[in-house]
Amino acid sequence: MSNDTDAVARVRLHKDGPEISGVVWGSMRMQSQFATSTELAGHLDWLRGRGVTTLDTASVYGHPDPFSLEEALGDALAKAGRNKFEIVTKCGIQRISRLRPENRVRHFDFSAKEIRRSTERSLTKLGIDVIDLMLLHRPDYLMDPDETASALDDLVSEGKIRHVGVSNLSVSRVELVASRLKAPVVTNQIEFSPLHLSPVSDGTLDHAIREGYRPMIWSPVGGGRLFKGEDEQTVGLRTLLAGIAADYGLPGAAEAAIAFIARHPAGGVPIVGSGKRDRIEGAIKAANTVLDRQDWYDIVARTNPSLFL
Ligand code: NAP
Repeated sequence: MSNDTDAVARVRLHKDGPEISGVVWGSMRMQSQFATSTELAGHLDWLRGRGVTTLDTASVYGHPDPFSLEEALGDALAKAGRNKFEIVTKCGIQRISRLRPENRVRHFDFSAKEIRRSTERSLTKLGIDVIDLMLLHRPDYLMDPDETASALDDLVSEGKIRHVGVSNLSVSRVELVASRLKAPVVTNQIEFSPLHLSPVSDGTLDHAIREGYRPMIWSPVGGGRLFKGEDEQTVGLRTLLAGIAADYGLPGAAEAAIAFIARHPAGGVPIVGSGKRDRIEGAIKAANTVLDRQDWYDIVARTNPSLFL
């Protein structure tokens, strides 16, 4: 039942959007996964060799210091070749950090000033001339949509950003931003997995199909929760996914979870957060696997039987 190609597809997020790899690598955990920039550069090189050329990051990422990750990624990109990857980054989340002494509390900021400042910092830290895709990271409830949209459009016309998208925005907020932007909204980066099913029923995935953009999917294995959880529901889900994986010749439950995402007609692109090669190989195989309708619903029933009421 598994389609036997192990190649990573190239996908276009939107008809006027960027082409990216059908499996994206998420950098959020990289400071715990790789000890040196040389080690990370080796990993980036390997990813590129496998066809995973799109890297997801964000200005706020960093461990132990928020806002420290992009610089570390930039150091590794200098070794691995900056122009060999498509870079997706995000702006708008503000956290308390020694690198942001002005932040007194956690908050969100889609003001023109912050969008510009964040974009310019990301360009410098990553050591690149243009960001392939800039996302508004999480809803800023104080957003002035005209101000936010014109800041993004200006950065596009200045050649600092190629494309604009959003992340974690409700359908009404995606529409609000889109209504003021000249550039198309080319994606909504959202959480979706067998552990987090709300996008299938709250209109998020329907909106992507209607508007012709592919969502990008974060935490496809729940950030590891699928493997750590010992409650009855998670153990049951893990066992079910492992059984389905075996039927399709996939390595295990993580890959069945990625095939579950890929089966939805919205064409979600998984962002894999593992630093391990065999898990990324598994994700590539899973993204090319078409689950049977009844297996897909079996997974839904295990996580959220109320979707059947
Ligand atoms: P994930 O792929 O669901 O989780 C990765 C974690 O799960 C890693 O710690 C990994 O450990 C562990 N894991 C994976 N497979 C496993 C297995 N078979 N057994 C045990 N543990 C396993 O994704 P994520 O890292 O949470 O998120 C992916 C990316 O999405 C992030 O890097 C970031 O770029 C993006 N993201 C975006 C948002 C947003 O708001 N837009 C939010 C969160 C994340 P190993 O490294 O040991 O494999």
